[in-house]
Amino acid sequence: MRAARAEVDLGAVAHNVGVLRELVAPALVCAVVKADGYGHGSIAVSEAVLDAGADWLAVALVEEAAVLRKAGITKPILLLSQPRLADMAAAVRFDLRICITSMVGAELLAAAARDQGKIVLVHMKVDTGMNRIGVSPADALALASDIWRRPELHLEGVFTHCAVADEPDNPFTAEQFDRFEEVLADLAGAGITPSIRHAANSATAVAHPRGRYDLVRVGIALFGIPPAPSVGNEIGLRPAMSLRAEVSAVKRVTAGEGISYGLRYRFENDANVATVPIGYADGVSRRLGLNGGEVIIGGKRRRIVGVVTMDQLMVDCGDDHVEVGDEVILIGRQGNQEITAEEWAERLDTIAYEVVCGIGPRVPRFYLSAGG
Ligand SMILES: *Cc1c(COP(=O)(O)O)cnc(C)c1O
Repeated sequence: MRAARAEVDLGAVAHNVGVLRELVAPALVCAVVKADGYGHGSIAVSEAVLDAGADWLAVALVEEAAVLRKAGITKPILLLSQPRLADMAAAVRFDLRICITSMVGAELLAAAARDQGKIVLVHMKVDTGMNRIGVSPADALALASDIWRRPELHLEGVFTHCAVADEPDNPFTAEQFDRFEEVLADLAGAGITPSIRHAANSATAVAHPRGRYDLVRVGIALFGIPPAPSVGNEIGLRPAMSLRAEVSAVKRVTAGEGISYGLRYRFENDANVATVPIGYADGVSRRLGLNGGEVIIGGKRRRIVGVVTMDQLMVDCGDDHVEVGDEVILIGRQGNQEITAEEWAERLDTIAYEVVCGIGPRVPRFYLSAGG
């Protein structure tokens, strides 16, 4: 019904998986599909990446994993954070690779595994400098030993996360690898030899070959978005999401009139103005127009004028003829013009991750299948 939609090109997603697999081989590719697949739809994206040869999936929350299991996906799913202590039983029920960062977490996970008669695969997370989650390097051997000796748990993996991998010249990434490898050496010295070591998000996987280890956890790159302006443009990623709408009204305004709440934009010349039925409740920032944001209509870039409202925004079309029903591209390509999520991010002083994750659930998703 709605004249606004996000289109997700699963062929582009499959292409990006292929590019990443080739780049990181023999490391496994774990496709990170948290936050509803970065706004692209976690089930459709998961099926597409697995068809394209991704080995694993990863999510942030037990309930995100539950959605995938209930959709019939049986491949390995890694949970990136330790579940709440009260949720260990649920995590075990969905057969996840579970992140553990504390002794009490290991103990309660083992109890849940025992209750369900299962052996659970564990990935211990080590904090090598991000200071978000993870056991400290000083405590890592004790925690790993505790997991290793429990018959209900199998320490399959040890991992860490990089804080500045999107700045390829920042030496701190190598320092994190050094700390990580010291932990691995301590573990090996105690006979603890997890088979899957991993440290790489998209930026690390692309820019820091040393950090690929046995598996890479790639999220943003799957969707064809370079993890940073200086990382990933060279490998030929293809953007998967386009955000489209149709003109819902056209009016002529005269020079000197203002537009939208607060009348914060004033027209210098008479103009045709197109109204587009998508707004900040859909994830189009209220500030986008004030910060120079544009859309494409009729193959030309045109300014969004005034503040974006909850459900609608307005576009200055000058003296050009526009009609109700004309296609409007907010993100994507029309003719030889293209607007990317990265362009929005620059205007909004954020990163493209926040742009695509912010496209709200009110916007219906449509899929172009990998076969076209
Ligand atoms: C989200 C996340 C990733 C994926 O990061 P991208 O930059 O999107 O590739 C990898 N690892 C962890 C721990 C994460 O939280």
